[in-house]
Order: sequence, then structure tokens, then C-alpha cells
Amino acid sequence: MILPGHIAAPVLCHRYAGANLPVAMVASLLPDVVDKVLHYGAGLSSSSRLPMHTLWGWLGTTLLVVLIGAVLSRAVAWGYAWFLSYGVHLLCDSGLVGDDVPLLHPFVKYDLESPPFPLAYLFDPATWPWPKLIAEALLVGVTVYLEWRRRSTHPRAGGSLAGAALSEGRR
Ligand SMILES: [Zn+2]
Repeated sequence: MILPGHIAAPVLCHRYAGANLPVAMVASLLPDVVDKVLHYGAGLSSSSRLPMHTLWGWLGTTLLVVLIGAVLSRAVAWGYAWFLSYGVHLLCDSGLVGDDVPLLHPFVKYDLESPPFPLAYLFDPATWPWPKLIAEALLVGVTVYLEWRRRSTHPRAGGSLAGAALSEGRR
């Protein structure tokens, strides 16, 4: 999945699974930011999905967030939001949408070919990854619709995502 889907997914985690929104949002964006910077920017990783799109990246960062959260008495809430949202990121990048996640790297061999630059496959219609694009459109469309419906039916129910993020950040 690409950026819009990885922004929509933590919004759903927040609305329907009670995940802390700022933590869920960072957990959803971090795997791609780190892996893309290491692969395309620094040339330090052999794939644009290593090392963060692995079970070890998921569990290791969850442990780190729990430890940081413990200092601020937020270990459970932050750990839960991070674990859930990071896991959903991996699910959204997985075989479900026609992609491959090197979850058990380096113990299992994966075909880890990366495009020459981020999203390069979008420039040639012949290589458009239709399952991924359809899943992305559905996820983003459903999220936008649910947020629109929430705001129009409960205009005073704290429908603003920015407001939710601010109030959670203060807690
Ligand atoms: Zn990813």
C-alpha cells in the first residue's frame, strides 16, 4: 500500500479499535520512512522493505514504544496502538494486496526486488499493481466516507481528527 492507505488505516484503528491516534499514525508511517530512506537515500539496505517490514522490526519497535510509554505511564495505550497500527501496515503491504512482506527475513528467502525509485511502477500502466491500487482506493474511500458520515451525523461528538490527536497528545 502507499501513503493514502497508510494514513487511512490508523484512522480506522483509532475510530474502531480505540488506538491512540498520534501513536498509531507514527507506527503506520515509520516502516516506510525508515526503509525507503535506508534503501533509496543512504543505500544501506538491500531492499525498500528492510529492515522494518519484518517481525523483528514490528516487535522490536513495539517493545521500544512500551518502554518509552512506561516512563510517561502510557505503556499499555501506546504499546497497543503501536502494535496494532504497525501490524495493520504490514497486513496492508502483504500478499493480501499482491505484495510481499519479508516478515521472517533473514530466516526465510524472499523475492526482495525494489523498484529503481519509490513508486516507479506507477509511471508505466503496464506495471500498475491493480490489486494494491484497488485495495488502496477501497480503504481510503471507506475511511473518508466514514469520517464524513461521522461529522455530518455527530457534528459535536469530537469528530475532528486533529482535535482527537491534540487531546490524546495532552493525555
Ligand atoms: Zn510498507
